[in-house]
Amino acid sequence: MDYKTWHRRFGHAGKEALRHLPKNIKGVDHVDPADDEPCEGCAFGKSHRLPFPPSEKRATEPLELVHTDLDGPMRTAPVGSGFLYFASFIDDFSGLGIAYFLKRKSDAMKAFDNFKAWAETQTGKKIKRVRSDRGGEYLSNEFTQHLLDLGIEHQKSTPDSPQQNGRAERWNRTIVEKAMSMLHHAGLSHGFWQLAVEAAVHIYNRQPMRRLKWRCPITAWDGTVPDVSYFRVFGCKAFVHVQKAKREGKLDKKAVEMIFVGYEPGTKGYKFWNLATHSIVVSRDVIFDEESFPARSIPGYRRVTLSDNPFPEHEGRSDDVSNSDLGDLPNIPIPLPSDPSEDRPPSPPPAPSAPVEDELPQPPLQPPQPPPEPNHPAVPPP
Ligand SMILES: [Zn+2]
Repeated sequence: MDYKTWHRRFGHAGKEALRHLPKNIKGVDHVDPADDEPCEGCAFGKSHRLPFPPSEKRATEPLELVHTDLDGPMRTAPVGSGFLYFASFIDDFSGLGIAYFLKRKSDAMKAFDNFKAWAETQTGKKIKRVRSDRGGEYLSNEFTQHLLDLGIEHQKSTPDSPQQNGRAERWNRTIVEKAMSMLHHAGLSHGFWQLAVEAAVHIYNRQPMRRLKWRCPITAWDGTVPDVSYFRVFGCKAFVHVQKAKREGKLDKKAVEMIFVGYEPGTKGYKFWNLATHSIVVSRDVIFDEESFPARSIPGYRRVTLSDNPFPEHEGRSDDVSNSDLGDLPNIPIPLPSDPSEDRPPSPPPAPSAPVEDELPQPPLQPPQPPPEPNHPAVPPP
């Protein structure tokens, strides 16, 4: 498979990580050597890196140390929900990270409890320490007391010490950069930030890491090797088969053009944005066109830009855009759909139900896509 496609499928991952894919991850037979073609998504999303601490002492087993941080408030509530924050929990040993989407900062404690329940059940181990970034100011007194009650040691990294500049903060940055690259490349607008972050986390946990000797976080977490043959390029065109009314008495199917916007673990499905109905559809009966990005040419879809993006911490970072020929698009209102999912739980558990309108209750008539690893129904969340 050509380099460009895997690069895009992996959320604009670096060439080293991609080079190590075939040996360390299932479902990738071969990746062509990196080409020198400039990538517009990369130029946009990755403008700088936080300094990497010289030698961090690492945990020696899962859940010995968990990092947490909070991003937000975002400038836009994503399509289909009122979330403005995401809280992240990263296992120090494996690098496995999970993001929970929140309406309020105060939902972080519930998110932590969900993470704890899931992680401890999966590993049979207990969380021993939690380190919160940026001085942990996002953690309420109640949360701090909660950790105390659970017998979990709470460490706060020093905000002004670059050596301690948190692991979770760097993880959030990496995820946001991936999401920005993916959104921009797809031509999608603000409202899709949550879907992009979800997809970025899904990818990250399956991406070879230098620190892990080029294994991926899931492998370091529980020893399984994920199969990523089902990965597709975020934001690409998809022809989703929708069955016409059964009353016509025949299995007459038609393909509806939609936009691929992520993975739906637990259902072996993909998520699509239905342009006609402005809603999310889950299906696996689909044909992808990974070279086409429908949102780029839709007038109402205001593409994210550096000065105008949903992530507050990316404000004003315009110093390193080598590919700025696109310029800012006209300021057109973002077409937000009516909200079908106000009742979505405030903090999704590791395997939450997404706000989907499944338009395809019948089983697919074509062979299903390879499933997201059944061993990981809950990694990452939605
Ligand atoms: Zn790229």
